[in-house]
Amino acid sequence: MTEKAVYFDSSKCTACKGCQVACKTWNNLPSPLGTNEAKWSGTHQNPADLNGDTRLIITFNELEGDSKIKPVKWAFGRRACQHCTDAPCASVCPGGALVRNEETGFVEVYQDKCVGCQYCHSACPFDVPRYESNGLLDKTVIDKCTGCADRVAHGMAPACVSACQPNALQFGDRDEMIAKGKEKVAWLHENGYPDACLYGEHEMGGLHVIQVLKYGIDAHDQVQDPKAPATAQLTQIMKPVTGAISGLTVAGLAAMFGLAIGYKRDKLAYNPETEDTVSVITGDIVQHGDPQDDKTVMEHITENLPIGKKGDK
Ligand code: SF4
Ligand code: SF4
Ligand code: SF4
Repeated sequence: MTEKAVYFDSSKCTACKGCQVACKTWNNLPSPLGTNEAKWSGTHQNPADLNGDTRLIITFNELEGDSKIKPVKWAFGRRACQHCTDAPCASVCPGGALVRNEETGFVEVYQDKCVGCQYCHSACPFDVPRYESNGLLDKTVIDKCTGCADRVAHGMAPACVSACQPNALQFGDRDEMIAKGKEKVAWLHENGYPDACLYGEHEMGGLHVIQVLKYGIDAHDQVQDPKAPATAQLTQIMKPVTGAISGLTVAGLAAMFGLAIGYKRDKLAYNPETEDTVSVITGDIVQHGDPQDDKTVMEHITENLPIGKKGDK
């Protein structure tokens, strides 16, 4: 099979959110949202962000219009997994829950293998994989767009694509989607949209969501020059060690992040109940934690690391 891609043309999108609904319907994901999640927030974006049972949102950005007749220009965006070729989420996952399909190029999800460590969330430059459900599902695993691997395997387009009436979303061979996008960007340049650009051809080794961004990268809430954070490379190095200490759980894996703050990775484990770091060999506590604070394990760990989101180096 040739590598595939979802194509998104922001200049055709009407922000009807049909794709959001189709994603939830096909993938059996609930939504508790009857009203705008953020009450009166001045935005039509709903929900405000991805979460454990929302794999796709259409983003709404208002730009200043060019006339009294048209005071607002809308820069609609598509926020979901971009299915990176160099996918740091898959590289850091100790359980093998995120796996890049070498045929389609999509990064698939095997929730039965997720150990709940959320390394993938920390590693993703697009802030995509999510753990927290909206409360309707009793989930303790990660969720993100799968590329509708089940549909694609049967020759169908992803559910979101199939629901898009104006053809803003399309699906096909990746090289064809790139060619289509380039043609559209050239047309936009000729017709008064000098900031229009193609996104996804080269980012992260090549994305499998190819986007035409009518008003440029920032206007459509995309990430300039995305990069995997340093911890993604760190955990990649550490992965073989996890096999050597297979008795350790997620907590132990979390302690491995501690290498960056001075822990010796193959000798220490982390107890999420006491928040103590203990020696695997002697059982002694080498660093006391504070279970009274309300920080998560990942917050404890990442606050000590020099990493950032959205392309920070
Ligand atoms: S279904 Fe198509 S037009 Fe509607 S919000 Fe999604 S991409 Fe935009
Ligand atoms: S490809 Fe499937 S899982 Fe991904 S956003 Fe579209 S409908 Fe949702
Ligand atoms: S966008 Fe994030 S979750 Fe999706 S493949 Fe890339 S790194 Fe993984």
